[in-house]
Amino acid sequence: SAKGSGGGIASYQPSMDETDARKLSRLAELRRALTENELVMHYQPLVDVGNSKLHGVEALVRWQHPEEGLLGPIEFVPLAESTGLIHDMTRHVLRLAIGQAGEWLRAGEAVPISVNISTRCLLDVTLPDTVEAVLASAGLPASLLTLEITESAIMADPQRSREVLSRLEALGTRIAIDDFGTGYTSMAYLRDLPIHELKIDRTFISRMVGESKDAIIVHTAIDLAHRLGLTTVAEGVEDENTMTALADLDCDLVQGYLVGRPMAAEQLRDWLDLRLN
Ligand code: C2E
Ligand code: CA
Ligand code: CA
Ligand code: CA
Repeated sequence: SAKGSGGGIASYQPSMDETDARKLSRLAELRRALTENELVMHYQPLVDVGNSKLHGVEALVRWQHPEEGLLGPIEFVPLAESTGLIHDMTRHVLRLAIGQAGEWLRAGEAVPISVNISTRCLLDVTLPDTVEAVLASAGLPASLLTLEITESAIMADPQRSREVLSRLEALGTRIAIDDFGTGYTSMAYLRDLPIHELKIDRTFISRMVGESKDAIIVHTAIDLAHRLGLTTVAEGVEDENTMTALADLDCDLVQGYLVGRPMAAEQLRDWLDLRLN
């Protein structure tokens, strides 16, 4: 409601269209979600290819919206990323996920946990301090934390990402490259940066049985990773044939609906009990 300078008639501002208005109100809601604790983490198992033993979990954020129900990250993470709110959200997510892993640890189970870090947060030089503080307050050793970053985040500012990554490495956290193979990047970062894990993107995994080119790409990615001493994770494994193919290729870890969907911490407990019995 802009005030006209003349007759006091509210004038329509073309610069602020309805989409912007909707975005703004959504953004305000998302801010409220942070203070009202409406964000919840779901945890998806990562298991060993051979014996399907739980190796760790990836923390994936959801918004328990009071009217709209449980919203997935695509419905609000990009909005947060387009504004500074992603920094608050990431701190919040780190507290939730690392806090949960700390609870598991005190209950006698050391469960490695992976957290997704957006480009803007990787390029934030205060990220290592935040991570260090959250680990300390949760009583979680840094070695149980993996941060998942993308190739495009590295390419956005190689110098800055190197700085942030080496400080994270000094803390003792692990670094995974998420969606490996989908960014338009040089591979030099694999040589220059402290990377521990490659997560091969679901688009290659989901078609590797039947599409020989996808199979070749997966095979080569696993081979490259192993020669560099990196752990390989296959994302989006949905069927037994793919699981078998990945075992044949010596992939280390798998993640996907075949093994387990992302679930709340309480359900993860049931999932574990079911598999142990
Ligand atoms: P991502 O990091 O690549 O996460 C994997 C996505 O694939 C998750 O979607 C997961 O539910 C889905 N997925 C796992 N296994 C399968 C499968 O077998 N088949 C299929 N079709 N999908 C599978 P989700 O939870 O909707 O997350 C989407 C993206 O949102 C994530 O992609 C990540 O980029 C982003 N995201 C999620 N949580 C966070 C967070 O806490 N912070 C930030 N910055 N981004 C997040
Ligand atoms: Ca991820
Ligand atoms: Ca991924
Ligand atoms: Ca992805």
